[in-house]
Amino acid sequence: MIKKPKGTYDVYGDYGQKYIFLENMLKVLMDKYNYQYIRTPIFEATEVFVRGIGEETDIVNKETYTFQDRGERSMTLRPEGTAAIARAYIENKLENSFYAPLKTWYYGPMFRYERPQSGRFREFYQFGVEVIKGESPLIDAEVISIPVNFFKILGLKGVKVKINTLGDHESRKNYQTALIEYLEKNKNNLSKESKIRLTKNPLRVLDSKEEVDQPIIKDAPKMSDYLTENSQLHYQELKQYLNKLEIEYYEDVKLVRGLDYYTHTVFEIEADIKGFGSQNVLCGGGRYDGLISLLDGPETKGVGFAMGMERLITALDFEEINILENNLEVYIIPLSSNQLKEAYRLANDLRMNGFNVDIDLMERNLKNNFKYSEKLKAKIIIIVGEEELKNHELTVKLNQSKEEFKVNQDYIISFLEEKLGELDVEV
Ligand code: ATP
Ligand code: MG
Repeated sequence: MIKKPKGTYDVYGDYGQKYIFLENMLKVLMDKYNYQYIRTPIFEATEVFVRGIGEETDIVNKETYTFQDRGERSMTLRPEGTAAIARAYIENKLENSFYAPLKTWYYGPMFRYERPQSGRFREFYQFGVEVIKGESPLIDAEVISIPVNFFKILGLKGVKVKINTLGDHESRKNYQTALIEYLEKNKNNLSKESKIRLTKNPLRVLDSKEEVDQPIIKDAPKMSDYLTENSQLHYQELKQYLNKLEIEYYEDVKLVRGLDYYTHTVFEIEADIKGFGSQNVLCGGGRYDGLISLLDGPETKGVGFAMGMERLITALDFEEINILENNLEVYIIPLSSNQLKEAYRLANDLRMNGFNVDIDLMERNLKNNFKYSEKLKAKIIIIVGEEELKNHELTVKLNQSKEEFKVNQDYIISFLEEKLGELDVEV
C-alpha cells in the first residue's frame, strides 16, 4: 500500500467539515474588517525566504523543502506567508494602489521539514493577515484583535495573549550589542544550541527552552532598558488600544519569535488548556517594518500574524466546542424505480430553490432508506410513490416529531420553508 508522506494528513469526514466551516467563518470575519484576499504561489525562488525570513533562522536553516526545478533554479515550498506577500507587494507595485493601508488575508498550506509530532506537521494550513503601510500602533492592535475576536466568536475560552516589543532598528541594535556582551561572559554555561545561536541569532537565545540556559536568560539585560523614546511610545500606545478593546494580555520580555524581520510589536496567542501539550501556540505575529526594503522594495511598514488551523481545531476539540453543522434539510425517497425520474426532478427543483437536498441513489428499500436518513440527520423526508404522483401529492415526514403530511406538489416549497422555519426556531 502506498502511504502518505510523513508529517502530512488526509482530510475527510467530520474533520473536513470542520475545516470548511472555519474557512467560511474566516471569510465572513475578514469582510467585517474589510480585508482583501491575496494568494501567492505555493513555491517561490528560494531567495525570497532566505532573504525575507533570514539565513540564520530555524525555518531557513533546517525546515525548508528546497529543490531544483528542471531549469536548475532553486525553488522552495513556502514555509510561511509573509515573505512571499512582501515579494508580491513589490513585484506588483501595490504601493501605487489607493489602499492605505493595504489590508490582506490569506489561507493555505505551508511546508516545513520538522519532526512530526502532535500539533506539528510538515504540511499544515495557516490563516493569516498582512497589513502593509501605516505605522500607527492602532494597526498592531487591530491585527491582534482579529484572532482574539475570532476565538471569542467561536467560544474558545482558554487563550492567552502574550505581547512584547523588540523596538525599532536602533533599539534592537543597541540591545543586541548589550546582549551579546552579556552572553559572551556567560558563554561557558550556555547549552550547545544557545552557543550556536549566540553567534548566529543572539536574540533567539532568549527563546531557549534548555534548562541550563534559564538562569542566564533570567538575568540577561532587558529589551525595555534599550528602547528609544519612539519605540517606548509605540508600545505604550499599543497597550492603551488593547485596554480600550478590553483585550487581556500578558507582557513577556522573553517573547522574541523566530524570524529576523520583526520590529516593535511581537505577539503570540497560546492555548491555555489543561493537557493541550507543548505545541500550544495557536498564532503569532508582529510588526515588520524592515521586511519590504530588505527585499529591495520601497521603505514600507507592515504588521501581520499567522494562525495554525490544526492547532485551532485541536483547541476547539479540547474545549468540546462543536462546530459541526447539520445542514441536510431534505432527504427524498422514491418508493420504487418507477418514481426515480420524478423524484430526481423534485430534488433538482428543490436544490435550485435553495434547499439542501439528498436523494437515494442506491435504490434502497423503504426501511433502509429511513435508517439511512437517520444517519444523515435529514430534517425532513419526502416520499415519492405511485399513489402520491397519481394525486399530484407528496408524503412529507418530519424527522424529529415523526409527524406526517400529505402536501400538494404545487405547495411543497412554501410548506418546506414553513416547517424548516419552525425547526430553526425550536433549536
Ligand atoms: P513554533 O514555535 O510552534 O514552531 P513558529 O514560531 O514556527 O511556531 P510561526 O512561523 O509563527 O510558528 O507560525 C504561526 C503558527 O503556525 C504557529 O503559531 C502554529 O499555530 C502554526 N504552525 C507553525 N509551524 C507548524 C507546524 N509545523 N505544524 C502545524 N502548525 C504549525
Ligand atoms: Mg517553528
